[in-house]
Amino acid sequence: MAFDFDLFVIGGGSGGVRAARLAAAEAGARVALAEADRMGGTCVIRGCVPKKYMVFASGYRAAMREAADYGWDLRAGGFDWGRFRARLDAELDRLEAAYRGTLARAGVTVFDERAEIEDPHTLRLASGRRLTARHILIATGGRPDVPDRPGAGLGQVSDDVFRWDSLPGSILIVGGGYIATEMACILNGLGVRVTQFYRGAQILRGFDDEARGHISEHMRDAGVTIRVGTDVIALEPGPAGGVRVQGTDGSDQVFDRVLWATGRRPNSGGLGLEAAGVPTGRRGAVLVDRFSQTAVPSIFAVGDVTDRLQLTPVAIREAAAFVETVFHGRPTAFDHSTVPGAVFSQPEYGYVGLSEEAARDREAIEVYATAFRPMRGVLIGRTDRVLMKLIVSRATRRILGCHIVADHAAELVQLAAVAIGMGATKEDFDRTCAVHPTLAEELVTLKTPVRTA
Ligand code: NDP
Repeated sequence: MAFDFDLFVIGGGSGGVRAARLAAAEAGARVALAEADRMGGTCVIRGCVPKKYMVFASGYRAAMREAADYGWDLRAGGFDWGRFRARLDAELDRLEAAYRGTLARAGVTVFDERAEIEDPHTLRLASGRRLTARHILIATGGRPDVPDRPGAGLGQVSDDVFRWDSLPGSILIVGGGYIATEMACILNGLGVRVTQFYRGAQILRGFDDEARGHISEHMRDAGVTIRVGTDVIALEPGPAGGVRVQGTDGSDQVFDRVLWATGRRPNSGGLGLEAAGVPTGRRGAVLVDRFSQTAVPSIFAVGDVTDRLQLTPVAIREAAAFVETVFHGRPTAFDHSTVPGAVFSQPEYGYVGLSEEAARDREAIEVYATAFRPMRGVLIGRTDRVLMKLIVSRATRRILGCHIVADHAAELVQLAAVAIGMGATKEDFDRTCAVHPTLAEELVTLKTPVRTA
């Protein structure tokens, strides 16, 4: 049977665009891509990219204080959100155009509309047009999940933040994960009074406990009010356009805004999956095997819609593996086991491998850790500390986990991840000569374990 396209990609985010480009430009496939929203997806338009620019913007408050302590004569005015937004919007426009340009140069046909799957090889566009494809790739990403609470609609989600016309005076952020913690730090840095409610005992569940404690302590010192063991019972309209929040801790408080940062769910609704016979799992995740293939042989899925690891570089790798498998005939599965990552909190957290808790459940370990005042702060009497931590297998001496809470921790851990991915042992780290004076040299000079388990 002759198909209109070799590949039809639904979704123009990190995963979809990468798969479309590689299949068209490197495998010579005839590719189409449908995207109903802006090209670039969550990462570029309402996630990693605008968030990181907000991290940069918010860091200047502490940097200016530090500069003054170092002797600079500074007179900082207030932060102008409008000026920042204008630059941010222009940059996002530029990136979106760059994504479109990449697809056009690769020869991908783009449809700026929704596509639904009608059967294993047929798609129906919002315009009513029907197209056929040998393979279909679902790369529709995810969206913020809002819990079912009275008045929940009075709260906002992360997508809304990047469209704000002005900053609020105060905000309640609900959740203790990546987005809640990053947004709490960013907005605190920009001068917003931030309260964070987290239902559990400590924010950043699942990460290394020592790193979690270190980050939350510094966030509190920086002015974020973190209330753990606390959740929202209900929201109702408050005075002056604010939101009245009833908390499980008996509190009743008005905030200018409320932000739900309570997880993200796969965007799998309304795609015709049921009719096409594609099974979905928890929270609507499209179920795939290690080659990202669904139960329907012609239909694959990558990225957040599969709810494996909701991270841009993971979606990109899954997309590349899909193209290798399907268009180059080399079955390739992306290994999700040692994906490094970062939480862009202030202080920043970079990690690779296992937390101490996960490692000690698996095998006998040694823990090497140090928390110290970095040189940069010592001169000016700053008391905040950085954390460097290695978890080592007692049997193989291999580094099982590396955790860094410090300025530029994400940059540092990217390089540590190369060595650890190659199977580096503690002795390999010890043999490496220090670069002095740096923060990272501590990673190669940790002599004695602080604990064994
Ligand atoms: P996370 O899954 O990281 O965190 C969700 C948080 O909300 C958790 O603290 C969770 O609590 C809490 N929560 C969930 N449901 C409820 C509920 N019904 N009531 C109250 N609290 C609730 O999700 P995020 O939204 O922060 O981020 C989504 C994903 O996006 C991340 O998992 C990550 O993969 C990705 N991301 C990555 C970033 C990065 O790489 N730097 C930055 C931002 C996002 P509990 O812990 O108790 O379950």
